[in-house]
Amino acid sequence: MDPDFAPCLEFLSPGHAAEHDILLLGHMDTVFPKGTAQARPFHIDNNRAYGPGVMDMKSGALFGLYLAHLFKETGEAFPSICFALNSHEELGSARARPWIEGLARRSHIALILEPARANGDLVFERKGSCRYNLTFHGKAAHSGVNPQDGASAINELAHWIIELHKLTDFDAGLNLNVGLVSGGTSVNAIAELAEAKVDMRFVENDQALRVDERIKAMVEHPFTDTVRTEISGGISRPPMNASEESLAFCRRIDAIAQKTGIANRLAKNRWRI
Ligand SMILES: [Zn+2]
Repeated sequence: MDPDFAPCLEFLSPGHAAEHDILLLGHMDTVFPKGTAQARPFHIDNNRAYGPGVMDMKSGALFGLYLAHLFKETGEAFPSICFALNSHEELGSARARPWIEGLARRSHIALILEPARANGDLVFERKGSCRYNLTFHGKAAHSGVNPQDGASAINELAHWIIELHKLTDFDAGLNLNVGLVSGGTSVNAIAELAEAKVDMRFVENDQALRVDERIKAMVEHPFTDTVRTEISGGISRPPMNASEESLAFCRRIDAIAQKTGIANRLAKNRWRI
């Protein structure tokens, strides 16, 4: 066991086969810093639960447990269920990812027990995500004494921000955001160093590859000749696009939802994240 991570949990239904009919996936951690549960403890008020992480995703994890129990109680045609709970989803699932991918490959259906959208929409597609860390290396100089000898890393960064944001195409489902920037050491110094972090969301891998090419070209041909740019990062999550099979499955869920009086949620759900 890795001392840095709590263990992940895997439950299998009795008499389990090598392949899973259903994979139920969830996570046990929450996004809140240590101490939040003491400051804002769990409580139930008027039949509603309150506290850090009750939505994302203790409610989903509980739902999975109840669902597995229900399947067991109904007895006949008991499906083979694998219920897997990740211990560090909010940290990026670094250790859990190969395990989850292995389980998914052996499963016919995978359901993620995260909360639905605020309006109850079922999530059946999701954008891919990509992160870049950019480091700009310029040349320090004093802005009063020898500014012509410097090369501003901040100036190069500024060009990058504008160029990267220009690549956003909301209609095509592609957006870039330079969300964090830092640089410079004092107001009267030409900045030797600047850094930026970029988040990109996309619906087709080709979009990400095209942006990646553009970024590499910008590294090769900087806006300021004497500034060097280093990049790290890349695609961390490919897009989840709806397949014929997943849409057919969603339609079945929809039909059941309508029978039980829950509104049709399928049509409105396009690239919400
Ligand atoms: Zn979650």
